[in-house]
Amino acid sequence: MSIISDSLKRIKPSPTIAVTQKARELRAAGKDVIGLGAGEPDFDTPENIKNAAIKAIKRGDTKYTAVDGTPELKKAIIKKFKRENKLNYSIDQITVGSGGKQVLYNTFMATLNRGDEVIIPAPFWVSYPDMVLLAGGKPKIIKCTEKEGFKLTAKKLKNAITKKTKWIILNSPSNPTGAGYSKKEIQDLAKVLIRYKRILILSDDIYEHVRYDNFKFFTIAQISKLKDRTLTMNGVSKSYAMTGWRIGYAAGPKDIIKAIGKIQSQSTSNPSSISQAAAVEALNGKQGFIKTRAKAFRERRNFVVKSLNNIKGINCLTPNGAFYVFPSCKGLLNKKTRLKNDTSFVQKLLEKENVAVVQGSAFGLGGYFRISYATSMKNLKKAMSRIKSFCESLNQ
Ligand code: PLP
Repeated sequence: MSIISDSLKRIKPSPTIAVTQKARELRAAGKDVIGLGAGEPDFDTPENIKNAAIKAIKRGDTKYTAVDGTPELKKAIIKKFKRENKLNYSIDQITVGSGGKQVLYNTFMATLNRGDEVIIPAPFWVSYPDMVLLAGGKPKIIKCTEKEGFKLTAKKLKNAITKKTKWIILNSPSNPTGAGYSKKEIQDLAKVLIRYKRILILSDDIYEHVRYDNFKFFTIAQISKLKDRTLTMNGVSKSYAMTGWRIGYAAGPKDIIKAIGKIQSQSTSNPSSISQAAAVEALNGKQGFIKTRAKAFRERRNFVVKSLNNIKGINCLTPNGAFYVFPSCKGLLNKKTRLKNDTSFVQKLLEKENVAVVQGSAFGLGGYFRISYATSMKNLKKAMSRIKSFCESLNQ
């Protein structure tokens, strides 16, 4: 009899975490590795947020809190949704978890029955399909092409829906492509979904505040008639450079919110009391950090996109959000270069030039790779020059 459960056998460890780990190991072995695999801002958490956490410790906020978040944090989340998304929620429509990741995991565990389908547009964030599988559901992956800006179209959505569809996941701006959906693109999807009353919509808005070039952010609950079956997930990790604090949240139908809390009550209980106090300050405090940081990210994005498009065989779209680009390496996969696919491309790049990126197939679309530019300009300059040398050596 196997020690490992059948449900665990259905999933694999996160490939993005694996790349980061591999880069760490090579660095420890003395190699000058540049890691462009991590999905976290390199900026430090703003001072006012850190101070709020210190104050919370000194005040004695060091005990268990309500399982699904303190009333103070829930109120700050309600204010955030009203202020930034013009969405009104009551306190029993809000849940807080240890990161958006936990909120999503709890959501699928709480709602999926065996065989229920979840529509996941690809390229997707690596954890969606595995979370669905772990919960007994069936990921229904819909490939979205570069020509489509890596975004789901209404037609593809309509064709993907079956009697078993339970959820559809939307993620804008997206990990791994940085693509953001326009108001019209979201409304076109909503027009399809409105006809299927039982389908639930999960909007992962974690990159809401990482956007450029006046890209206007919209979330589906705000601009459609689908609010009563939409779970809008967000968090402080990417917006406020707080990945390590582990606070994510969601707003939506009361029965789903209650079910998420029930799972949390029998697993992790409340997220850290201190992190929750810090998140209150992040959401209620001054918001200037978001703009300053976006300016720095934009500069890096422009540099990376331009550098990549100067390399023969590489083609890169300019994304309007998040801190990733998703260039194509298809022009370098042939007999002459002896590279079979995107996985061999990223492996060789790491081996030859010590640059760690993640293969597109890990995100459900082969022939591409993901670069996270959430690192210093100095690192990016070095990395781009190494990628260029590597690709040129292949072309010779
Ligand atoms: N959703 C997407 C698309 C992400 O990229 C991530 C993190 O990488 C998360 C959710 C979860 O973030 P956290 O658990 O730090 O809130």
